[in-house]
Amino acid sequence: MTTLASSPIPLVDLKAQYGAIREEVAAAMDAVLTRGDYVLGRDVGALEEEFAAFSGAAHGIGCANGTDALHIAVRALGIGPGDEVIVPAMTFIATALGASLAGATPVFVDVEAATALIDPAKVEAAITPRTKAIIAVHLYGQCADMTALAAIAARHNLPMIEDAAQAHGATHHGRVAGSLGTLACFSFYPGKNLGAYGDGGMVVTNDAGLATRLKRLRNLGSERKYHHDEVAPNSRLDTLQAAVLRVKLRYLPEWNRLRRSHAAAYDAALVGIGHIQLTRSDAGSVHHLYVVRSDSRDDDLARLNAAGIGAGIHYPFALHQLDAYKHLGYAAGAFPIAEDWARRCLSLPIYAELPADAALRCATVLGG
Ligand SMILES: *Cc1c(COP(=O)(O)O)cnc(C)c1O
Repeated sequence: MTTLASSPIPLVDLKAQYGAIREEVAAAMDAVLTRGDYVLGRDVGALEEEFAAFSGAAHGIGCANGTDALHIAVRALGIGPGDEVIVPAMTFIATALGASLAGATPVFVDVEAATALIDPAKVEAAITPRTKAIIAVHLYGQCADMTALAAIAARHNLPMIEDAAQAHGATHHGRVAGSLGTLACFSFYPGKNLGAYGDGGMVVTNDAGLATRLKRLRNLGSERKYHHDEVAPNSRLDTLQAAVLRVKLRYLPEWNRLRRSHAAAYDAALVGIGHIQLTRSDAGSVHHLYVVRSDSRDDDLARLNAAGIGAGIHYPFALHQLDAYKHLGYAAGAFPIAEDWARRCLSLPIYAELPADAALRCATVLGG
């Protein structure tokens, strides 16, 4: 079957997953449509309970997307204008937007060379009297060093927010993402490890007071109809999305297991290729993305794409290099390790249903 070897492999294949669960999804969606509770309906409450339990937290607060989850998490902590929030320089912009949308100022910190995760050794130097929280990002599915970060946070009496948008089910020393900080924020964007058929997000926490505040912040500042206690967005979760997510949550442990085995196959296939550096692999990772660094990244990307392999870049810019954050005034070279990741990082296709020959095909292109 020589034709198989050249069939395209997308960066992520959502349709393959849908094929396996379509009947269950159809039944779950039909139940919502028949019931008619389209916003904050029965499946939202059930998903909040189930996903909080999955993430080792007592409370789940569904919201419209992961960016809003970060925004309302920052606001629930009472953080606003004049306050600073520490954020890694290499992440998706939404991490920093969580602070900015609350009116606070994100303060960037460089990342570790081996993982692209926030470097705890550099966090302490960024803390000022205005610092009100640290956001640790579990980038690519690997947990940040929450042990070291928690010690720093405790020393300075700062809350920790987990940006777990890429890390549903990831673990750090056996403890699951969502249970490692004061609050944890998840995204259910379609391509995430647990993805809706549209936008969705959730904050989880063990703090009942914060959970109450978050319920108000996602719903126009209201806990009782027509009583509005503060200015807040409409960031409610649709019941249809929650119903889909409840179906998918049952499969997530198996999908994460498959991602781990694909990542191991990539590690084995790529280890000898001289111009490729592997990301330090961690048994607790759920491998949302499989990212390596390449000394000839743009050339490798073009050759993979020409071979029908949907490689990508996560992310081509560090946050201080984005126009949106020019006003913060960071110089070029301010975060050299994040800048190096932006220049050299290369994401290879990964998803539960990834074809078994993907690692060898990528290694053939990259090693050739
Ligand atoms: C996807 C993502 C978000 C934002 O989630 P949306 O649902 O797209 O708003 C936040 N942080 C990280 C690290 C992400 O990957």
